[in-house]
Amino acid sequence: MNDCLFCQIAAKKIPSQIVFEDDQIMAFKDINPVAPVHILVIPKKHIPSLAETSLEDQKLLGLIQVQAARIAAQEGIAESGYRLVANTRGDGGQTVGHLHYHLLGGRPMQWPPG
Ligand code: 5GP
Ligand code: ZN
Repeated sequence: MNDCLFCQIAAKKIPSQIVFEDDQIMAFKDINPVAPVHILVIPKKHIPSLAETSLEDQKLLGLIQVQAARIAAQEGIAESGYRLVANTRGDGGQTVGHLHYHLLGGRPMQWPPG
């Protein structure tokens, strides 16, 4: 087992509030929510960021988006709308080195982001 935080959450070595799980993906509540709904959707496989993905990951990445839309419906934000974002590397604001998508909703989002 590596010391990656989200690998440990995926392996349930570190507890989280799981809202969805299958054999490839886990979704859990962000520990420091910035919106009424703030869920992190991750592949169970360790990928450091979107920048390290390859064509071999295309099914997995597609699955994450499809499941994120289902989770949004499950969480009651499908009609009002939401944002799905993958902060990537330094300028993207990424702080955890395991690919994750923020599913944000329950309030209007601003554009452009900060
Ligand atoms: P990033 O800044 O890399 O885009 O997003 C990392 C996110 O992970 C942050 O929103 C942060 O609040 C969340 N986070 C960091 N540590 C933990 C943790 O131990 N558990 C959970 N559930 N979320 C975490
Ligand atoms: Zn990891």
